Amino acid sequence: MSLEKLGWNTYFQKKFEPYLDKGFWAARVINQHKGNYIVCSEEGSFNGKLSGKFMYNADVKKDYPAVGDWVAIKMVNDTEAVIYAVLPRKSYFARKLAISGGRKMKNGILVGGNIEEQIIGSNIDTAFIVSGLDDNFNIGRIERYITLVRSSGVTPVILLNKCDLCNNVSDYIEKIDVIAKGIAVYSISVLNNINMDIFDKFLCCNETIVFLGSSGVGKSTVINYLLGGEILKTNTISSSNGKGRHTTTGSQLLQHSSGCTIIDTPGIRELQLWADEDILSESFQDIYSLTDQCRYRDCAHEKEDGCAIKTALEDGKLTIERFNSYKSQLNELKTLKDTRKCYDNSRKNKLNKINKKRGYVEC
Ligand code: GDP
Ligand code: ZN
Repeated sequence: MSLEKLGWNTYFQKKFEPYLDKGFWAARVINQHKGNYIVCSEEGSFNGKLSGKFMYNADVKKDYPAVGDWVAIKMVNDTEAVIYAVLPRKSYFARKLAISGGRKMKNGILVGGNIEEQIIGSNIDTAFIVSGLDDNFNIGRIERYITLVRSSGVTPVILLNKCDLCNNVSDYIEKIDVIAKGIAVYSISVLNNINMDIFDKFLCCNETIVFLGSSGVGKSTVINYLLGGEILKTNTISSSNGKGRHTTTGSQLLQHSSGCTIIDTPGIRELQLWADEDILSESFQDIYSLTDQCRYRDCAHEKEDGCAIKTALEDGKLTIERFNSYKSQLNELKTLKDTRKCYDNSRKNKLNKINKKRGYVEC
């Protein structure tokens, strides 16, 4: 298998330079389960194990290999390899992972306990945010995915699937245009083969793509169409009881004949946000430029005089749904920031204690 067909390009070539001529091979992580990895190199696929030094130096979850990572390996035999390093990531999706303490869901946000960032897919170029043009269409959810994709360093593309079920597609596209300035939007029907040629420009060698969106929007059906077979199980409604079959798929990196790589992991498909607040200024540019016009710098956009948000809501220039989406994302990211701060402090204290025991002095 050529490395290019696995997504290799000059970016990774450069990052691999320190490992050249030292007996290392470049490989991509195509599957991961607990401490076991399957890595694919020019020499084929291997079961990968982490080297002792790697484990000793790995500090946080983020340091460990994830599906999509490029790693430096040495082969042990025909089936096994040792992973020595993860090459710097070009982009990645991460999720919040509770590592200790109690946690609970509050207003749809994971709160409490210590959390860490866990990488669930990396080195992705394009993320298709899939939504069905049916009763499940939800603009707030699409806005959330846009924030997430942008904060991950990945290019978002919006796919409105099931256009065969909708007779006012242009109304939906208009709604999307308001929240997704500068992002390509396509309406397709994979079942009726409408507009499926839009994928031609994305399916090229060295590219890595993913499909995000709620269950049932058609991600597996699209991936199966692109790969030309029943590779993934689809969530087809069972004719006997009318209920959707619950499908579970493991993480995998799939290959298209063009050389494009498709990452499909349950973790990426639906995510909790892990991002900094700043990212909202991109996703909600319209709201940020309005807040700049509020009379008071610390305007809470509630009852203050001279509040540009209030005026825009009254004039209909801003919809309450969009403003609420902004507020809920801001709230979610603020909660994350506080939890992270709390975690960083407790970690720092722990490290200080260990260092003191070892005789190191904090400077
Ligand atoms: P996933 O959970 O996002 O992977 O969704 P699936 O690919 O499993 O699809 C869920 C259901 O939507 C299945 O019954 C598909 O047959 C159906 N579906 C997928 N694409 C289309 C489409 O373009 N039009 C219609 N009408 N149904 C579709
Ligand atoms: Zn205001």
